[in-house]
Amino acid sequence: MSLETLNRRLEAAKPSATYTIIDRVALRRAEGAQIISLCAGEPDFDTPGHIRAAAINAIHLGHTRYTQVAGLRALREAIARKYQRENGLSVTWQDTLVCSGGKQVIYNALAATLNEGDEVVIPAPYWVSYPEMVQLCGGEPRTVACGAESGFKLTAQRLAEAIGPKTRWLILNSPSNPTGAVYDHGELRALADVLLEHPQVLILADDIYEHLIFDGRQFLTLAQVEPRLAARTLTMNGVSKAYAMTGWRIGFATGPRWLLKAMEKLQGQQTSGACSISQHAAIAALDGPKDFIAHSSEVFQRRRDFMVQLLNQAPGIRCQVPGGAFYAFADCSGLIGKRSPGGLELVDDEAVALALLEESSVAVVQGSAFGLPGHLRIAYALDDESLRAACAAILHFCKNVR
Ligand code: GLU
Repeated sequence: MSLETLNRRLEAAKPSATYTIIDRVALRRAEGAQIISLCAGEPDFDTPGHIRAAAINAIHLGHTRYTQVAGLRALREAIARKYQRENGLSVTWQDTLVCSGGKQVIYNALAATLNEGDEVVIPAPYWVSYPEMVQLCGGEPRTVACGAESGFKLTAQRLAEAIGPKTRWLILNSPSNPTGAVYDHGELRALADVLLEHPQVLILADDIYEHLIFDGRQFLTLAQVEPRLAARTLTMNGVSKAYAMTGWRIGFATGPRWLLKAMEKLQGQQTSGACSISQHAAIAALDGPKDFIAHSSEVFQRRRDFMVQLLNQAPGIRCQVPGGAFYAFADCSGLIGKRSPGGLELVDDEAVALALLEESSVAVVQGSAFGLPGHLRIAYALDDESLRAACAAILHFCKNVR
């Protein structure tokens, strides 16, 4: 063993692809490059004023000490109200847990429950961190290909085929990162029917994009569609995307108490309670006015409309219309095997993303990082002018690919 020997699971894990590109962009910008970044999944809006004011007030009132590991009771009560009001789940504050970001909710749930060899069913395309977290926690990601033909969604049949004796969890994410796909009532109902036949399977419903949903669609979460699954569903969410609070790091969940207790025990030995000031801000967010949510989903829908239309004009790019979130997941297979305007060989989607960054100063994330090669994830969480400039640069790039 050398001094620098690392944990085996960590060594086997890939670094976060989203952060790798976010960091690359930051580095280039520090060197003076002008880059339009469509790589980070975070709203470009400021956190609403009343939420910021609540945080400043919390500082003035001296709410600057440790909180309970599971979160402030007042926040947990606000979370319970949120689940009742928005999701029709009958939960009390004791059925909730607050973590430092949605990521910690997911990681703690997996770390608290997975034993060596347990499988986690993950529909692909998936958010980059799911399989890595599973692997870090000793489990085996069992990815299920869900391509454009099924609208990038898991079907009941695919789910039934994927569940086996070792299955411990299913991860469902709607609206989806990276595709923006939204599951409707019928689709969730069909998945629920399969899950009812497998009582050993836990379900993680990642609802973080709940409020970014378009064309009048109704957001539904699995435990609401099938209450009999609530006893084994961890319904997670957070304030990051809904209230433009990515930096405040507040995620939360509701689920069976035995699971929340185990996650709390882990958190008590790890990070303790989430930032006290952010927790006070999150109370203001959850209990406060909702006009910001309506406004931001309206803005994102408008941006989606022109982005998809412009991207589809680029030769070699094909893009479905996403129903939610703020990502376009574009098929770029028409560019692969060719040469970029600057002469780079476009051997795969990663090469396309790199060439776009180097030659067109537009940063996107390659689909292979999300489990579906031949695609690009294009986040449209940016002002209209920059988005139009990015699309023009992509169009110019694609027109000059040889
Ligand atoms: N969830 C966002 C994204 O996919 C933030 C970065 C991350 O945590 O991966 O871009």
